[in-house]
Amino acid sequence: MRVFKRISQIRKTLQRYKKRSRIIGFVPTMGYLHKGHLSLIKLARKKSQVLVVSIFVNPTQFGPKEDYHRYPRDLNRDLKLLKEEGVDIVFYPSVKEMYPEGYKTYVEVRELSQVMCGISRPTHFCGVTTVVLKLFNIIEPDLAVFGRKDFQQAVIIKRMVKDLNLPIRILTGPIIREPDGLAMSSRNIYLNKIERQRATILFKSLKWAKESYKRGNPDPKKIIRGIKQKIKQHRGRIDYVVAVDKNNLQPVNFLRKGTLIALAVYFGKTRLIDNIIL
Ligand code: AMP
Repeated sequence: MRVFKRISQIRKTLQRYKKRSRIIGFVPTMGYLHKGHLSLIKLARKKSQVLVVSIFVNPTQFGPKEDYHRYPRDLNRDLKLLKEEGVDIVFYPSVKEMYPEGYKTYVEVRELSQVMCGISRPTHFCGVTTVVLKLFNIIEPDLAVFGRKDFQQAVIIKRMVKDLNLPIRILTGPIIREPDGLAMSSRNIYLNKIERQRATILFKSLKWAKESYKRGNPDPKKIIRGIKQKIKQHRGRIDYVVAVDKNNLQPVNFLRKGTLIALAVYFGKTRLIDNIIL
């Protein structure tokens, strides 16, 4: 496994593989890897001949009051895990390498980035699409894998790839959960013991919503109200709970197969997201 910090160097190495028409797979991450990341890496490993993983805590996707500086980092542990997964190349650039002095260009996917997480994090997705497009341009992968944990992000990336005619196949992987149902996240370590326990209500309430739909409840308002009630009982502070079309992220009037129920909730200062598809 080779680790590159410099754009020019990773490009040079990847050019050699491209000349030999190798299928290049790519999984972007912010590091502090867990089984959710590793599941995407396993999926990408199966589909590609050369597998590239990036580790970059991208400052432009954090708001001014968000956790950029305290976001967890553990490069040595990450590299060990990536080696075990058979990753070929790790891209680990500095902030200066990605955003040198004078940097001015941002990519925006309209509308899709202004709903759901985009309401409380108005600059977040612009940072995400910008860094992902930069990484795509640096690595030029044939395919890239994203997690459905960040469902809105995956929808936005797919839209960007389509709109900007990028020759990259976007695959998504399922949400990987802790044994008690909490979606794995690098941010889960922020939770204290009692918050961690309370946070299990997120997946429980999503499962309740799906069961309620399956029992014949077609009303998104009732479902959203039910989810909110359960979360509040567990001291969660709700950012949003929505029932939307999984393709355009617009609210639905009736639940049907394929509807996305998504939420963002604070436990203490930690904001968690989760979702389920009916
Ligand atoms: P991050 O390091 O948080 O930027 O996440 C990198 C990638 O891993 C994104 O595509 C996420 O959607 C994905 N991911 C994060 N957590 C999970 C999880 N619990 N299950 C599946 N994918 C995940």
